[in-house]
Amino acid sequence: MDQEMLNMKCCSYLKELCYKIPERSVGSAGNREATHFCADEISALGWESELPEFDTMDWKDGGAILRLEGEHFEAFVSPYSLGCTVEAQLCLASTIAELEQGDITGEILLLHGEIAKEQLMPKNFVFYNPEEHQKIIALLEAKQPGAIITATGRNAALAGGVYPFPMIEDGDFDIPSVYMTEEEGRRLAAYQGKPVVLKSFSERIPAKACNVIARKGNNPSERIVITAHIDAKKGSPGAIDNATGVTVLLLLANLLKDYDGDRVIELVALNGEDYYAASGQMNYISQNQERFADILLNINIDGAGYKEGKTALSLFGLPDKMQKRAIEAVEKFEGITEGVQWPQGDHSIFIQYGCPAIAVTSQWFLENMDSQDITHTPKDNLEIVDSGKVVEIAEAIQWFITGDLLPTYSKTIYPPG
Ligand SMILES: [Zn+2]
Repeated sequence: MDQEMLNMKCCSYLKELCYKIPERSVGSAGNREATHFCADEISALGWESELPEFDTMDWKDGGAILRLEGEHFEAFVSPYSLGCTVEAQLCLASTIAELEQGDITGEILLLHGEIAKEQLMPKNFVFYNPEEHQKIIALLEAKQPGAIITATGRNAALAGGVYPFPMIEDGDFDIPSVYMTEEEGRRLAAYQGKPVVLKSFSERIPAKACNVIARKGNNPSERIVITAHIDAKKGSPGAIDNATGVTVLLLLANLLKDYDGDRVIELVALNGEDYYAASGQMNYISQNQERFADILLNINIDGAGYKEGKTALSLFGLPDKMQKRAIEAVEKFEGITEGVQWPQGDHSIFIQYGCPAIAVTSQWFLENMDSQDITHTPKDNLEIVDSGKVVEIAEAIQWFITGDLLPTYSKTIYPPG
């Protein structure tokens, strides 16, 4: 396929995913539209595809009202929270010890300071779940405050570029909650012990979603799995995070449309990296529980194509020949460099199951992970994407995976005939 055609397709995929489809949060109509768009494109190029479906939850943010002695406070509904109308006394906790000691049952609890420094991992999240988070959740569920207010700062590494961030984002946690800025939290904290009214118009909506899995090649016991998450946060076009990754999958579907090699190439749009329950990832794991040993390599694209800096390849446990070829790719493709290892992405799943992996992202994000204010916000739109870099990634991956990646097997050293 010539370069001009590839560039054109790249721009049209990006526009479709970021602008024509208004949102891609898991469970939303836009999310279903995106997965079907992706599947239709790939199938039309002759790939065998499947769309395994799973139950999920959509969420409607109707806003929140927080009132105390005639004063109003600005509060946002925690994503996937239950709604509520609660009138109770304001209690405070800034540490686990204060939470343990506090008499908070039925009251409205403000979590602020130290205890609210990071977003709690969802209670049923299996990949990474620190003991401290589990302890906070267990204490809250045991004590049952009527509702929770969290006052949070910035934590870009774990919550993206959002300020304030929701400390609780968990559709399996049933105590209603809202969140606010640290400043608003300090203003509210002065009213400890006073009666406060919280109304939240949040709604959970049962929904369906699916992954998109496409395959080409002949030997399913040797797979190269290329992944990119297709979902985005509500309120963000999700251009860098991660329409660019899905676009790389679609470009690869074009570049490899005549592929007929022995190894199976599997293109997977995983649906749930930015969703509290990671449902698409869980679905893929259960489908592949006995088959991770077949995976020669995972390449995961997330956060790639940022206008500044190069594309970074982070390498995890590659066998010698693959490692050598990855280094060659860095030399061959001008816009690509080797990056440091980082854990917050779907490549971690494959690494946990013992597969070699390459994570593809933007060097700029690796360098600014803790301070960037772009991901998960409206700023993550096509203005910050360099589509030329997206095309280069697809070309580099095609070059990489169609080359010689493994040591020559003994069967091939015998003379033919
Ligand atoms: Zn992402």
